[in-house]
Amino acid sequence: MFLLFGYVSVFFFGLIIGSFLNVCIHRIPREQSIVWPRSACPLCATTLAWKDNIPLVSFFLLRGRCRQCRMPIAFRYPFVELSNGLGYVATLWTFGMTGSTVLYSLFLSILLTITWIDIGHYIIPDSLSLPGLSLGLMGAATVLPIEFLDAVFGVVLGGGVLWIVVVLSPYLFGKEGMGRGDIKLLAMIGAFLGWESVLMTLMLAAIVGSLIGMGLILGKFMNRGQYMPFGPFLALGAVCSLFFHTQIIDWYLQIVW
Ligand SMILES: [Zn+2]
Repeated sequence: MFLLFGYVSVFFFGLIIGSFLNVCIHRIPREQSIVWPRSACPLCATTLAWKDNIPLVSFFLLRGRCRQCRMPIAFRYPFVELSNGLGYVATLWTFGMTGSTVLYSLFLSILLTITWIDIGHYIIPDSLSLPGLSLGLMGAATVLPIEFLDAVFGVVLGGGVLWIVVVLSPYLFGKEGMGRGDIKLLAMIGAFLGWESVLMTLMLAAIVGSLIGMGLILGKFMNRGQYMPFGPFLALGAVCSLFFHTQIIDWYLQIVW
């Protein structure tokens, strides 16, 4: 009973933080303050009343439209809130009542914010990845279940591998394959998860990224030369690596041997 109460509270807490992440996703790329003013409709500028600003619930009560001007609210809003809530439940499930749960929940929130900013604006703000990187290193030195040196090596490997890709890709592919933001993102992932997970994250991101890219090109949703942000795939790879590390390694070894 107590456990169920714990999961439910963590889920609602995740929804509320998810609502704040939506503010960050909208405002950080526009270089606006994330604490002031209060949330408003981007079209008619009406400040949202508290009852129209309840995570998840308001979106469905309003049937996905602004109360004043009826502009459709992006589906991203309830999606981010829900996935953040479920993410917090998953970390509690995996890591129990520990400091790791707190830090990895924060890690998930940063990844979620970066994913949606990268999808919308093709940028990964340093103001998210660099503090995240320091937080990961501090976590590895204290509560996280990885060695500090492992985290340091993760930063160097994650940043180094993508740095080489970014430097070489104009010569190899004749165009920029990746942004510099991706370098810092994978370095941050290394700080939280260690060097082994950096390789796993990169492999998963490359596989899923090329499959989705091919699908989008074949389905004519995208042109061959069009830029597809890589950050969301790195984030996805990191999440899989966080929760399914051992399963993925077992599965991989079965295929190889
Ligand atoms: Zn409106």
